[in-house]
Amino acid sequence: MDFKPYIRVIDDFPQPGISFKDITTLLKDGKVYREVIAELARRLEGKQIDVIAGPEARGFVIGAPLAVALGIGFIPIRKSGKLPGETIEADYALEYGKDKLAMHKDAIQPGQKVLIADDLLATGGTIATSINLVKQLGGDVIGAAFLIELLELNGREKLGGIEIESLVQY
Ligand code: AMP
Repeated sequence: MDFKPYIRVIDDFPQPGISFKDITTLLKDGKVYREVIAELARRLEGKQIDVIAGPEARGFVIGAPLAVALGIGFIPIRKSGKLPGETIEADYALEYGKDKLAMHKDAIQPGQKVLIADDLLATGGTIATSINLVKQLGGDVIGAAFLIELLELNGREKLGGIEIESLVQY
C-alpha cells in the first residue's frame, strides 16, 4: 500500500525551512493506520525481538501498536522528568530544538533484543540517543523501524549500521 497520500506535508513548520510530515491525517484513518502496523510487523517477521522501545510522543503511536501486533512488550523513552522511577538520561538534538530523553533503569533486562520504533527518521539524533540509553541498560539494539525516513538528512549514518525499516521515504 502507498502510504504517502495519507501524510500531510506542511512547509515551514514549526520553523522556516522545515518541511513537516504530519501523520495525524494518516492516523485518523483506522484501516490505513492498521495497515502501517501490519506492514511493519510483516517486515520484522522472523527477527528475534524481545521488546520495542519508542521515544515520546510519536514513537508511542508506532511502537506500542507494533509491540501488541508482535505480542511483545513496549518501553516508553520519555522526556526528562516524566518517568516516576529511577532513570538514566541523555541529551539529544532534534532537526529543530534540543532536549533530554530518559528511561527507567529497570526497563530492560541485560541481553534483551530491542527494536527502536518512531514515526520518522530525520537527523537520527533522537534514535541515536535512544540507542545509547538502551545500550547503557545492557540491551542489544537489533534494529529500528519507522513510518517515514527523510533520506537527505542521512539519519541512518548516525545509527551505527543497525538494520532499518521505513515505509515511506522523502
Ligand atoms: P531526528 O532526531 O532529527 O531524527 O528527529 C526525529 C523526531 O523529530 C521524530 O520523532 C519526529 O517526530 C520529529 N521530526 C523531525 N523532523 C520532522 C519533520 N520534518 N516532520 C515531522 N516530524 C519531524
